[in-house]
Amino acid sequence: MLGANFDIIADARMEIEMARLLCLKAAWMMDRGDAKAAAPWIHQIKVVAPRMALKVVDEAIQLFGGVGVSQDTPLSRMWMHLRTLRLADGPDAVHRRQVARTELRQYADTKP
Ligand SMILES: Cc1cc2nc3c(=O)[nH]c(=O)nc-3n(C[C@H](O)[C@H](O)[C@H](O)COP(=O)(O)OP(=O)(O)OC[C@H]3O[C@@H](n4cnc5c(N)ncnc54)[C@H](O)[C@@H]3O)c2cc1C
Repeated sequence: MLGANFDIIADARMEIEMARLLCLKAAWMMDRGDAKAAAPWIHQIKVVAPRMALKVVDEAIQLFGGVGVSQDTPLSRMWMHLRTLRLADGPDAVHRRQVARTELRQYADTKP
């Protein structure tokens, strides 16, 4: 196995776990019953999870080489579905805009 592949696998594991924690935080905020307070966390995870999964699958395709983009593995199909998710549940740009607005609202006198 090439040395750099260990780094790629380690990064993938760490990024999965970071996204899981953000997902748990969003779920916890929702469980508290204040939809408005939970919204920024929902927007964050809707960007972070598909991006992270797409990156991990993309790296997996690279590790597999040409087989990774063949139909012998599920990877190319997974990539296509994850890429679609970055649009289907609202484009990333829309979620990011909401995250930024929440962030700026804390410091602005007028509504950003
Ligand atoms: C497979 C699939 C399933 C879907 N399922 C559903 C569904 O179940 N229910 C549903 O309601 N919709 C669904 N959609 C529609 C989906 O929400 C839209 O595709 C998405 O909102 C983007 O709209 P659009 O395709 O018209 O692109 P456009 O509105 O033309 O957007 C193109 C790009 O412009 C940018 N953009 C657009 N709007 C903004 C904005 N307000 N702020 C900043 N940048 C922006 C983004 O970069 C975006 O990617 C689905 C789409 C797909 C592909």
